[in-house]
Amino acid sequence: MNWPSDFQPRKSLGQNFLLDENVLRKIARAIDPKPEEHFIEIGPGMGALTKHLLEAGSHCTAIEIDQRLIPLLQERFASYPNFKLLNRDFREVDLRQFARARKLRLAGNIPYHITSHLVFTAFAQRTLLRDMTLTVQREVAERIVAPPGGKDYGILSIISQTFASAELLFTISPHVFRPKPEVESAVVRWQFQPPPVPIIDEDFYVQMVKTVFGQRRKTLRRSLSKLMKADAQLDFIDLQRRPETLAIAELIQLANACAGIRGK
Ligand code: SAM
Repeated sequence: MNWPSDFQPRKSLGQNFLLDENVLRKIARAIDPKPEEHFIEIGPGMGALTKHLLEAGSHCTAIEIDQRLIPLLQERFASYPNFKLLNRDFREVDLRQFARARKLRLAGNIPYHITSHLVFTAFAQRTLLRDMTLTVQREVAERIVAPPGGKDYGILSIISQTFASAELLFTISPHVFRPKPEVESAVVRWQFQPPPVPIIDEDFYVQMVKTVFGQRRKTLRRSLSKLMKADAQLDFIDLQRRPETLAIAELIQLANACAGIRGK
């Protein structure tokens, strides 16, 4: 696709357009779109990835915030009955309006400055979703898939790995984007699935993870003190541990136990 002569990308919208067809084909192969599937694409830009989803025969609802790109997208995909376009902020779209018997799939090369916000918005609607494949900043991708024990293991890793399996598929050089971003990129795939251990109160679980990782240098006993009584006893876990040493299943067990103690 030719670059429109008068178009100035906006940094405030995280606009770095992916121009390399080989990379786009690689992403499309990883997504493997099928005719009967319905994709929600976050930030189609000029339609670089959209084209691959539509050509595979998938249904694609593209959600683009930048009004300047709307006529261009409408014109480019006018001949595709399987294309639908919304000029909206993805974070404000209720995906229930697109839900059918088959689960939705989410895809996009997203604006990096709001990655966490977009990912958490998607996770809040995960019961409608089968999977999500996003191009994100490489450092963020590494945090998403990080195992317990290291500095990268935090809220993004835990929410991702509690409610999905998360995989870093491959990295992408800055040189294939226009304008060139200052950072490397990576493609991440989340496949939504039930948590490894049932969670009694999901809101409390998320609140607890945010609380203990918001003060990650503190021991669990200190950071949990706001959420439960000071003399509460948890005999199955050493409260002198730091939060980043806990595996997902341990965090869930801890939240389940705290939720029980809190209620007494
Ligand atoms: N997918 C295109 C590509 O690969 O060339 C564009 C990628 S660019 C990194 C991110 C796109 O997301 C831009 O088109 C931008 O306008 C759009 N965008 C930014 N914030 C958005 C939001 N909150 N909701 C929907 N789209 C957004």
